[in-house]
Amino acid sequence: MLDVDIQNKTYKIADGTRLDAIEKIKFKLQSQTFTCVVGPSGCGKTTMLRTILGLDTDFSGSVNFNKQTGGTGRVATVFQEPRLLPWRSVEENVRLAMPKSLQDQPLMNLFNELGIEHVKQFFPSELSLGLARRVALARAYALEPELLILDEPFVSLDDATAEHLRQLLLKLCQLRPTTSLMVTHNLVEAATLADRIIVLSKRPSFILEDVPIDIIQTERTETDIAKVVAQIKSVQEI
Ligand code: ADP
Ligand code: MG
Repeated sequence: MLDVDIQNKTYKIADGTRLDAIEKIKFKLQSQTFTCVVGPSGCGKTTMLRTILGLDTDFSGSVNFNKQTGGTGRVATVFQEPRLLPWRSVEENVRLAMPKSLQDQPLMNLFNELGIEHVKQFFPSELSLGLARRVALARAYALEPELLILDEPFVSLDDATAEHLRQLLLKLCQLRPTTSLMVTHNLVEAATLADRIIVLSKRPSFILEDVPIDIIQTERTETDIAKVVAQIKSVQEI
């Protein structure tokens, strides 16, 4: 349903030189799968997502997103920062992002799934970091997206909060199956959430390895996760 073929992406720097961000990234996503992309800091992960989202069209290659039969065709994003409007309540922040056709939908179920029903009248400044990230997830899922793009959504949280949010996201994935593409540099996070991990090289990035994970997320033990992490590390060391 998503066909990514980035042949090359170069930034033109102010001093006239060029910076090669992506060498070659080519993959397809199957419907309702969860794919994680991992790679070193600065290798071009956010650049790749911006290209997929059509926010940066200055690259060679192609990105094709095919709406599935019965699918909404909508794409939702969750970035590193929650990017909530400070003068709007939690509920207003979520509703403002929703298309007209969904405006009358009750949000209680989604808010309960994410544990934010009790803060729906709060303003973003009244939320802890972890709650703000949950609101960002609610805003994305409220769109009923066909494709969900996440760029390090749990970065700079303490370990316990990040782990709690991972478990929440895992639950949402079961309750609301969506095709998801998530960038993270946290290998445990990738090995916990993904059906498949795409490992990128250093910049200019290309795919080092495409690692499927056969055990379903809800049945993965810590040992299973540690094995996947070790496998990814061994690929990255080559
Ligand atoms: P990642 O998300 O993997 O950490 P990015 O995609 O943000 O990496 O950046 C990849 C490389 O491209 C980095 O070296 C970064 O400095 C550079 N870069 C990102 N955006 C721009 C831009 N708008 N102009 C110039 N260089 C950029
Ligand atoms: Mg990034």
